Amino acid sequence: MFQIKDLVKTYTPKDAEPVMALRGITVDFGETGMVFILGKSGCGKSTLLHVMGGLDFPTSGEIVIDGKSSKDFTKEDYDNYRNTYVGFVFQEYNLLPEFTVYENLAIALQLQGKKADKALLKEYLKRVDLDLDEKRRPTQLSGGQKQRVAIARALIKDPKIIFADEPTGALDAKTGNDILTLLKSLSTDRLVIVVSHDEEFARTYGDRVLEMSDGLIVADSAAS
Ligand code: ADP
Ligand code: MG
Repeated sequence: MFQIKDLVKTYTPKDAEPVMALRGITVDFGETGMVFILGKSGCGKSTLLHVMGGLDFPTSGEIVIDGKSSKDFTKEDYDNYRNTYVGFVFQEYNLLPEFTVYENLAIALQLQGKKADKALLKEYLKRVDLDLDEKRRPTQLSGGQKQRVAIARALIKDPKIIFADEPTGALDAKTGNDILTLLKSLSTDRLVIVVSHDEEFARTYGDRVLEMSDGLIVADSAAS
């Protein structure tokens, strides 16, 4: 069970005015399903995703995971949350270009304390409909293939929540639809939260659409 309460995030750059990127956001999420967070560039989507995923801290407010508030989190709790509970998918894939695809996945497996068995890695690739030989590098893949590898990497944690920040932002429409279809299929047994500025994708794939404007949620398709 995942909730966020009164999240506020203010950036205070050294040489510029403070920016209030989140102005008080409260949402209860279910355990499964695909939730879109929709809004124009600069409205605070990535900030919200980073704070929800424990990559950044709120200025005030809290995230609540299985009843436990981030206000009571130790540094270790935050590390555990990031490393075992949530998975991330980014617009730019964030694969390590100096390693092969298999090595990218092997590193993720080893971080989970598991042995990077070749058959197991192949199995993870199969879950995202990829069949690649061992020598392949991320630089030798299409954008859609790279994003599938990034999703496979996220799945290695068997995360309860997948956070995706503009996962189709660098892809053509057909490939974008394929990636969202894949993420949607994963949302039957986990929560998938997708940040996007694409209204059509949000309405097509979202079980729930939250609309953001200027640091606030201004519409929630689940509220009626
Ligand atoms: P979105 O993802 O919806 O485009 P962001 O969350 O990236 O929006 O940004 C929200 C606001 O916070 C914007 O005004 C942006 O300029 C500002 N912002 C984001 N990151 C920082 C930062 N590290 N320092 C200062 N301001 C930031
Ligand atoms: Mg963004």
